[in-house]
Amino acid sequence: MLSNVAVIGAGVSGLTAGYALRKNGIEVDVFERSESIKEFGAGITLSKNATILLQEIGLMGSLSSVSHNPMDSYIRDYKKAKVIQSKTFDKDFITLDRRDLVATLATRFEDIGGSINFDCEVKLVDPIVGEISISNQEKKTYDLILICDGIQSSLRSSYFDTQQPQFTNYVAWRGMTTIENLPKYEGSDKVNVYYGPGGHCVHYPTGRENLINFIAIEYNEIWSEESWKTEGSKSEFLNCFKGWNEDLLSMFNSAQEIYKWGIFERALPKTLYRDKCVLLGDAAHPMVPFLGQGGCLAIEDAYCLMSLLMGDKDINKALRQYDKLRNSRVSWIQKRSKFQGIFNHVSNPLLVTIRNFITKLIMNSSVTKLHSYNLIKEISKVKTV
Ligand SMILES: Cc1cc2nc3c(=O)[nH]c(=O)nc-3n(C[C@H](O)[C@H](O)[C@H](O)COP(=O)(O)OP(=O)(O)OC[C@H]3O[C@@H](n4cnc5c(N)ncnc54)[C@H](O)[C@@H]3O)c2cc1C
Repeated sequence: MLSNVAVIGAGVSGLTAGYALRKNGIEVDVFERSESIKEFGAGITLSKNATILLQEIGLMGSLSSVSHNPMDSYIRDYKKAKVIQSKTFDKDFITLDRRDLVATLATRFEDIGGSINFDCEVKLVDPIVGEISISNQEKKTYDLILICDGIQSSLRSSYFDTQQPQFTNYVAWRGMTTIENLPKYEGSDKVNVYYGPGGHCVHYPTGRENLINFIAIEYNEIWSEESWKTEGSKSEFLNCFKGWNEDLLSMFNSAQEIYKWGIFERALPKTLYRDKCVLLGDAAHPMVPFLGQGGCLAIEDAYCLMSLLMGDKDINKALRQYDKLRNSRVSWIQKRSKFQGIFNHVSNPLLVTIRNFITKLIMNSSVTKLHSYNLIKEISKVKTV
């Protein structure tokens, strides 16, 4: 019988799981190594597969007030910004500022009696006993420990597998600007994706003031920085995208700060749980962000775990079912995201023509399929077995 849970990491996965469990009467302590919620200013898109779950646990009301429904999206060519294909979303697709997402999750969690312990880096866990050791030497014991410490998860390395995150040869440049700096063509204030040789770019409004988020991905064989995210130089950034659409480049140039991220990946561990520990979010399955699904899958993980734990008194059975359900879903999205990078970045003119033809033909149906995954239905199938 589950009565108390420790959550390590106050990111999207940890806070969503913490909220969902707390709402079901479980005692939840979140431990976060930073001294406060410190999200950086950048956008995030959440698609229907995640937002239906947020709706189900009662978080969408609060998130609607800090998010935006862009409704339309355009795939464009990198040079002339000519539309290759467009798609209309429904109201379940939202964009928002990551700071607003994480702050809302944290506030709602605390409002229902959850506790977030800042400045508490969890250094060690004892998976068998369910004990955690915090930076201040304190030790606590729980029925279950949710490891939600992100892509660089040191706890995963200590207790699940020794493989380290691998650089994917992709670098993401991220920045924010304001609406008046958008390119002037029709639809530029919606979700826009540009396919080009060796790179792609995305921009969309975040719903926070007039802020526009942009991400530009380049293929680059080297990641020489010490950290996996760092402040980037604007001239280096613009140089990487030399020859791309002038309006797009001038929008990039209008950002005050540019950040540069090495994109890392880590294959799934053999199992997502071990004794009283379970992995969620990027700690379990980081992926290249080309389908905008990493955060959505973190929300799916949180909902899935909560639903299985609440549906069965046998914690081990719930963990086994979680492992099975998440493993197949996540490994497919990891592969599909990686393929999207290759698809977006082709440079050979013949392949570009074929790629654009395929985009026209199947983009709408493949995005709809991706976003219409219904975890609630999948869980009910598992529960009836
Ligand atoms: C360029 C880019 C664009 C993206 N765009 C999208 C998108 O549009 N849509 C989408 O769904 N996803 C997107 N993603 C993916 C998404 O950002 C991640 O999948 C998501 O943030 C993972 O959340 P998490 O909670 O698992 O990890 P994190 O957000 O990394 O949170 C981990 C937390 O754990 C804390 N922590 C670490 N170690 C410890 C410890 N030992 N003790 C205590 N605390 C600890 C950290 O301080 C941090 O707060 C994007 C990713 C990138 C790189």
